[in-house]
Amino acid sequence: MSAAIGVSVLGSTGSIGVATLDVVARHPDRFRIVALAAQRSADKLFDQIVAHRPALAVLADASAAPALASRVRAAGLATEVRGGAAALLEVATHRDARAVMAAIVGGAGLVPTLAAARAGKRVLLANKEALVMAGALFMDAVRAGGAELLPIDSEHNALFQCMPAGFAAGSPPPGVRRVLLTASGGPLREWPLERMREVTPEQACAHPNWSMGRKISVDSATMMNKGLEVVEAHWLFALPPERIEVVVHPQSVIHSLVEYADGSLLAQLGNPDMRTPIAHALAFPARVAAGVAPLDLVARGRLDFQAADLRRSPCLALAYQALRAGAAAPAVLNAANEVAVAEFLARRLRFDGIAPLIEDALARFAGATADALDALLALDGEVRAHAAAQARRMAQAEGAA
Ligand code: NAD
Ligand code: MG
Repeated sequence: MSAAIGVSVLGSTGSIGVATLDVVARHPDRFRIVALAAQRSADKLFDQIVAHRPALAVLADASAAPALASRVRAAGLATEVRGGAAALLEVATHRDARAVMAAIVGGAGLVPTLAAARAGKRVLLANKEALVMAGALFMDAVRAGGAELLPIDSEHNALFQCMPAGFAAGSPPPGVRRVLLTASGGPLREWPLERMREVTPEQACAHPNWSMGRKISVDSATMMNKGLEVVEAHWLFALPPERIEVVVHPQSVIHSLVEYADGSLLAQLGNPDMRTPIAHALAFPARVAAGVAPLDLVARGRLDFQAADLRRSPCLALAYQALRAGAAAPAVLNAANEVAVAEFLARRLRFDGIAPLIEDALARFAGATADALDALLALDGEVRAHAAAQARRMAQAEGAA
């Protein structure tokens, strides 16, 4: 039995998943992969199985699993291959995994991530949508399961690093006045407002500083990503919305800042590379190499800051609105946003139709509550159905105009 910490990765074939495996591979003495899960990228998952020899590998799309299983057997590998959403829970709760990287994109990650929290794992949370949908339930599961919650989102990981010693996610940080989330502003920061209707998926996904999955790339272009991060910060750092501020910082070098009562502002800086927060959380409280080049401040020369413009970023305003409304409003926001982004990526919804679609859902489901997981998942389904129908109506109106 090796002394290395067992790690499961939910969403191993995505941008965060691949970066996680890169960090793990640098430290075979410290970390070993126990289980991997993806949606349906069988080829990528096979290569990861060959490289990391996990005990278990899961494809959520059950129809893709049998072919992968035969390939694994034919290669003489011992990895058990399973298919289906229920098998994701086995990855999340595997008894040999001490840490679980939650890097499935969107609401699909909620149930397995909750399971990891209930099982008392060290949960490395990239899947911000899970916390936005189910903040209270999720934090309860962390407490009930005795789990340790460490943020992977670069801003929240930066805030965590700047928090008082001994800080644990979900408890109010003593002496902290507010937190400042930095935002690059995304690829459309300087686009004229009147041209937002023309933005294509390719333009929205061309992020200047970060290479990420398509969903979060669109969220960065609309600034909904920052909105989701405001809600995420609310739950991780137990702060009300008025103590969570967004500041635009186009270089993405300062990853976020904590302001203390005495006037101190603590920041975490680094090159924009997700392997830094991943390595931080995997090894916490130790520090290990992440493969990230050191930040050359002199070469960077300058760092710029601007106020966030809520008029240019209606999605950010909607996220604050949902957080203030409380109850299930952030879940409604998230579900409608996921539909809007998918419709936009499928070229059925205009870029400037994303915010109105979410606004419509927030109005339609105003006052919705969902205190238990099944009620929350039912509401999530209803909002998605409503938003999809609304997107079709918007497309028809557009076609008729
Ligand atoms: P991605 O699209 O590159 O990867 C998503 C992963 O989830 C893939 O492995 C995919 O197979 C898997 N997946 C998707 N749907 C699934 C389902 N229904 N069941 C099982 N697996 C499923 O996304 P990403 O950019 O890696 O982002 C992952 C999460 O991390 C998102 O919540 C995102 O907001 C967050 N995040 C990403 C970054 C980044 O730099 N990429 C930064 C901060 C936070
Ligand atoms: Mg982020």
